Amino acid sequence: GPALLFVKTGQGKEEGRRFYACSACRDRKACNFFQWEDEKVSQTRLAAREEYNRNHQPSFTHRQNVERYKNFVQLPLSKRRFCQECQQLLLPAEWEKHSDHQFLCDISTAQLKSPSQLLYPLENKKTNAQYLFAARSCQFLLNLLIDLGFRRVLCVGTPRLHELIQSKASQEDFRVRSLLLDIDFRYSQFYTEDEFCHYNMFNHYFFGGEAAHETCRQFLYEDNGERVIMVTDPPFGGLVEALASSFKKLMAMWKETGKEGHSNKEMPTFWIFPYFFESRILDFFPSFNMMDYQVDYDNHVLYKHGKTGRRQSPVRIFTNLTPSMIVLPVEEGYRFCTICQRYVSSGNQHCEICNSCTSKDGRRWKHCVLCKKCVKPSWFHCNNCNCCALQTHSCEKTDAGCFVCGRAGHKRSACPSLS
Ligand code: SAH
Ligand code: ZN
Ligand code: ZN
Ligand code: ZN
Ligand code: ZN
Repeated sequence: GPALLFVKTGQGKEEGRRFYACSACRDRKACNFFQWEDEKVSQTRLAAREEYNRNHQPSFTHRQNVERYKNFVQLPLSKRRFCQECQQLLLPAEWEKHSDHQFLCDISTAQLKSPSQLLYPLENKKTNAQYLFAARSCQFLLNLLIDLGFRRVLCVGTPRLHELIQSKASQEDFRVRSLLLDIDFRYSQFYTEDEFCHYNMFNHYFFGGEAAHETCRQFLYEDNGERVIMVTDPPFGGLVEALASSFKKLMAMWKETGKEGHSNKEMPTFWIFPYFFESRILDFFPSFNMMDYQVDYDNHVLYKHGKTGRRQSPVRIFTNLTPSMIVLPVEEGYRFCTICQRYVSSGNQHCEICNSCTSKDGRRWKHCVLCKKCVKPSWFHCNNCNCCALQTHSCEKTDAGCFVCGRAGHKRSACPSLS
């Protein structure tokens, strides 16, 4: 899809010059597309780029993959193979071609219903950054959505939540439906065109064109009072402004389907993201609040939940729903603060001076009278910098704030929050 327009910052003669680069890959090694905004592109280069794109298409279209799936499920168990190298369901006629690849046999219906277990996670931080919800967090999210009365879930980059909903959808008394929007095209092998759209959330691009757009629009249309919520869990290295712009477009699609009924409402949304992006997210969505719930992942070693382990997940839910409605599990230590009217972490103490439960990371924060706010327990007030910081910080200051945390002294690439 379309590239994004960036601007060079820093010293040097190219400062301020604008250029286009790939929206989805934040690594020039994964996608080397680069073009100055004012550059004249020769016919040869254009042709070469088109040729490159043609050669990098997936081997089957979504439509073909749906047909293949139909054939696959008709096969007896003994003939159901999945090539681990190509990440592809194989039909018997194709075995030969993959004979020296690793493959799995006897693919069961249960396995077909949990593709996120079958496919390996694309962990590359600078592209897919696929970190899958731990079962506990995924189930918590689904129960919460059901308790809040939602019947449809637009899953943007949340394949595991989609999968949980889809696998329950065959049960008789389960009425929730979902549509997955994700850039990971491997999922097109398991879902129909009404269940999955190949989508780029950094530029709001539907690879399936107008038909896919229409699928999404239809899904957002709330007939018989079925309420819709969007749940998104983007790569944490992604640009917040690009994501916010796409989410606003999805919200606008929802609004357009609602006629006058939605006139001054916003599509209910859960944006799952680390707490240190709070101010960036609120810049774009002032109606959002950050919840204390710590979202856990299966394949993220650093982000494991646990009272004993020092490392706790920094990932939270940002939502435009009324905070008091987001009930967090008491058995995991969350409690309701009657003054703040929301559930908070057990360690999050209500500060009398700030008049709010101020901890962001679950630890008990302390109030600094000079800064007039609560700060991390490990911070001290520095008279040089005139603010609180780690005792080991260096006092030199630069003017521009970091794009991630807003603090001065470092660039986005060196942000301590991201490491
Ligand atoms: N926790 C979620 C997965 C989040 S990981 C779950 O368990 O369901 C981030 C997801 O966003 C991955 O599924 C990844 O494929 C998808 N993604 C990454 N870049 C994307 C892009 N540019 N557009 C759309 N989806 C993207
Ligand atoms: Zn293969
Ligand atoms: Zn305070
Ligand atoms: Zn201070
Ligand atoms: Zn920073």
